[in-house]
Amino acid sequence: MPTVVPRIPLVHGPTPIIRMAALDALVGCRVHVKRDDMTGGAEAGNKLRKLEYFLADAQGNAATTLVTCGALQSNHARATALVAARFGLRSLLLLRCADGPTDPWADADDLPAVGNVALARLVGARIRRISASDYRQRTALLLEASQEIDRDGGRGYVIPEGGSNGLGSLGYVRAAEEIAWQVRHGAVDAKRFAEVVVACGSGGTVAGLALGAARTDVYQRVRAALVCDDARYFETVVRRIVLESRAWDDTLGDVVAPVLYDESARGPRYGEMDPGQKDFLVDVARNTGLILDPVYTGKALYALRLARERRDLGPKDDVLFLHTGGLPGFLATAGDLPLGGVR
Ligand SMILES: *Cc1c(COP(=O)(O)O)cnc(C)c1O
Repeated sequence: MPTVVPRIPLVHGPTPIIRMAALDALVGCRVHVKRDDMTGGAEAGNKLRKLEYFLADAQGNAATTLVTCGALQSNHARATALVAARFGLRSLLLLRCADGPTDPWADADDLPAVGNVALARLVGARIRRISASDYRQRTALLLEASQEIDRDGGRGYVIPEGGSNGLGSLGYVRAAEEIAWQVRHGAVDAKRFAEVVVACGSGGTVAGLALGAARTDVYQRVRAALVCDDARYFETVVRRIVLESRAWDDTLGDVVAPVLYDESARGPRYGEMDPGQKDFLVDVARNTGLILDPVYTGKALYALRLARERRDLGPKDDVLFLHTGGLPGFLATAGDLPLGGVR
């Protein structure tokens, strides 16, 4: 009997795969955009595919509260809070803050209600801020927070940063199967992709796509456009997640598609773009109506353009760009972009 890992459907799929001539011109090859920014409504983005598995596991464990962490404008934390509210669960979010009081045990009711924080607070998530240095101990802090919930008579369920572990990644093994299905049924104007390009922030999406590619053979490799850390760090992380996924689902084979850890578009630091990246994000929006965000998707598509400039890819290559969402975070930070010059 093959393993069936429980899952609660949340994603409005298959998400469309679209093409735009103006986007090809800006990037320099045949770009197919997989709209995982449309996996749902306000809860949309890549994290929703992972949450299908976490929610089922949490319910199986009779959890009352989903506990997770992330950056202050974490899309993952927001998606977790919204899904919790829908299913009658509570949520507790540990959010990394650069400054201000950072007692990890005090609820933060004073965080500005913008972007993802606005949505999370709207649905009644409990939020605690943790300092950048405490954030290094996030695994221990999540566990402590969950145990505190248990002591108070509830039952905590910990979801790691970005939903990136072997269980969450199964969502992207499934996404690879969805892409293969779309190609087989003629929903895409290509037979196979040279690569799939995706932003990499905590590694779970890349791990799932690498595992799923080996199963479906619809793209030759995964370009992981890093938005933080470096290639060596993510090689280790993704290897660990892949092993965990196989422990959940023993039908996953030993083969993984090659992953190219691309550091070329990391920019100055997490959440910050260099001027060329900002101009590119604005150009894409003005020529195609496609909204990228400065933290993840803007950098990932920029990494693809740089790869074309280096001739890593040819002008006729079909490439799948996975749009992972990020709009609410963008709305909290858009003031930083060069939006003038229109006439
Ligand atoms: C979290 C996130 C990513 C990165 O996915 P990981 O699985 O954490 O590597 C990419 N894009 C957006 C919009 C995200 O919120």
